[in-house]
Amino acid sequence: MESLLKGLNPQQKKAVTYFDSPLLILAGAGSGKTRVITYKIAYMIEKLRYKPERILAVTFTNKAAKEMKERVEKLVGNSAPVLVSTFHSFCVRLLRTHSVRVGYQPNFLILDTDDKKRLVREIIRDMNLDSELYNPSAIASVISNIKNGLYSPESMTTYYDRIKDIFEIYNKRLKENNAFDFDDLLIYGRELLKSEELQRKYSDFFQYVLIDEYQDTNRIQYEIARALTKDKGNICVVGDEDQCIYTWRGANIENILSFEKDFQNAKIIKLEKNYRCTKVILDAANAVIENNKLRKGKKLYTDNPAGEPIRLYVAESDVDEARFVSKTVKQFLKKGVKPADIAIFYRTNSQSRVVEDALRREGISYKIVGGLKFYERKEIKDIIAYLRVVLFEKDTISLLRILNVPKRGLGSAVEKKLKEILQQETSNIGALKLLSDELRMEKQKKAIEDLIDIVEEIRKKLYNLKPYDLIKFITVSIGYEKYLRKEHPEDWESRVENIKELGNTIQEFSEREKLQGEDLYLEFLSTITLSSDQDELDEEDEKVTLMTVHASKGLEFPIVFITGLEEGLFPHIKSLDTKEEIEEERRLFYVAITRAKRLLSLSYAKKRRSFGSYKDTRKSRFLDEVPTHLIKEVKRKVAKKESERRNAIDFEVVQKKKPKLVFHQKFGKGVVKRVEGVGESAKVTAFFANYGEKTIVMKFLKVIG
Ligand code: ATP
Ligand code: MG
Repeated sequence: MESLLKGLNPQQKKAVTYFDSPLLILAGAGSGKTRVITYKIAYMIEKLRYKPERILAVTFTNKAAKEMKERVEKLVGNSAPVLVSTFHSFCVRLLRTHSVRVGYQPNFLILDTDDKKRLVREIIRDMNLDSELYNPSAIASVISNIKNGLYSPESMTTYYDRIKDIFEIYNKRLKENNAFDFDDLLIYGRELLKSEELQRKYSDFFQYVLIDEYQDTNRIQYEIARALTKDKGNICVVGDEDQCIYTWRGANIENILSFEKDFQNAKIIKLEKNYRCTKVILDAANAVIENNKLRKGKKLYTDNPAGEPIRLYVAESDVDEARFVSKTVKQFLKKGVKPADIAIFYRTNSQSRVVEDALRREGISYKIVGGLKFYERKEIKDIIAYLRVVLFEKDTISLLRILNVPKRGLGSAVEKKLKEILQQETSNIGALKLLSDELRMEKQKKAIEDLIDIVEEIRKKLYNLKPYDLIKFITVSIGYEKYLRKEHPEDWESRVENIKELGNTIQEFSEREKLQGEDLYLEFLSTITLSSDQDELDEEDEKVTLMTVHASKGLEFPIVFITGLEEGLFPHIKSLDTKEEIEEERRLFYVAITRAKRLLSLSYAKKRRSFGSYKDTRKSRFLDEVPTHLIKEVKRKVAKKESERRNAIDFEVVQKKKPKLVFHQKFGKGVVKRVEGVGESAKVTAFFANYGEKTIVMKFLKVIG
């Protein structure tokens, strides 16, 4: 135990061992807030003998949750089923047990952003509204804002006079589908906890509650946290008011500023030492955030070395900026920096394309976090829709998706008929049977009957087949590969690969969570639907990361490029009107700067293409807030020479050793050929003398060479 506390400074130690009253850890970026939460959980298990399953830790993304779980396990050994989740996934758990109380069946389904947009589009079409005016994406986010209490349907009627009707129909359709959208999960989760019985049950059950990134909780999340602890004082939240960047999604900076008022006898501990950044980077961050008025105010220091000056590149155009970034990245890679140690940030998603083009030209592989995610790819959604039809008998959205995918000669007339039937008959199979009775054409009748057979076959196999084989079974029985070849001749192979990857993932998930059959698939589907901006299927080590600043929260990288520092872009044009909005943009810039551990590069372009033509830009006001003595301007011509000189200085390259020889219980010694992914869930392909080549998950192997 002593050794556990050794990894902490005195303030952090105090935070880990304090249990007398509600605890707020208010501290700047990189000061070890997340580390404190992790150690506190370990401390409770090891020292205080709390039951791991009765500790609840809430993080901002599923990825953060997974990482935290792994870190705790590292500290206390494997036996720690601590409940680390996001607010959303916590609510899913609550609802799976108690949804009947709010009028939903326990096997409800969750609409992801894409499903939601489809549904909104359908409603707009059914109502014969102009989809130019009633843009489905815009309406989807209005619906979300209404649900989050940001504004009422009435106040929106000035912009969209039918919004109230859309809102009502939307909710009605969700209910008919036994479905929740993301916002509903929180709303109904909180609703459940309003019952005194459940509130008592859960607040008695959880011995302690911890929340990371508390500055970005919204009102509903706050109320859930409150209900889970009431006045028992068994809560620790950590946050940084300077990093509150989700007020546009209803996050409420007040939650953190008024913690002392809301939680009696609250204790506040501040952490002031930053362990992440060089002095130069931290000085820049401190100087920038000081321009904000709406803050409690705090100063961070670090014992880290001063480090290199911040690089500034003034580009002639967006293309030139992208070229600068990609060339510099290339130089780093040549010097042995790992791709995964480099991140490129931008304010808006649409900026990524130019950068991507430039990276591709240099032959640098990259991944986009928060771009088109694995689970949003068509082939994955198609296969998952089959699973959903099997698991959720009322999931008509998925049923309509698979009706003619792959093509079975069932056109829009048949679809219309099915929709009519679904008005009365809401069970999927029931509706298909009625549909087949109504159809005249033998071919169509047969197609529907085949589809019914397939769905029932899959259902039977849920328990008999391993997940990987089940996915294969679905793909083969619907003839999906043939369909892909025909529809997507250019990239059908990689799509087939993706589906295999899906099989692998569910297989792995089943082993990790020790779940099978229906429980397995239900749990898996909730997890992926909730996977958010930062969550990616493949956490490849070999790629440079591209992401928006929002998605970078909580992460750290040795080298960070922040691009597009122009007025109207960063700060964003939508946020120039009020002081509050500008301050939020500044917090965002502060978040971006403080992700960098060793080297920070800032850049802007003098002109940038938008809506098809080039426009002159002005450099961001935030750049002027970075003290000039911390900056060194990079010029293109000399850049090459200079960086060669610089690279000799210092980039401590932590080269992770790749295993060469592994040992497996059954197969014995194996020679490693390939490793995909990282950590315990990495997939290792190795050659075993008596068994040939096998691909095995890392955790079942021992590295012996
Ligand atoms: P953010 O505000 O960005 O979320 P944070 O306050 O959560 O940052 P952490 O991510 O917990 O900070 O810590 C930042 C880095 O400093 C991590 O790499 C962490 O391991 C390291 N660190 C924190 N405390 C210590 C310590 N006492 N000794 C050594 N390293 C530390
Ligand atoms: Mg953190």
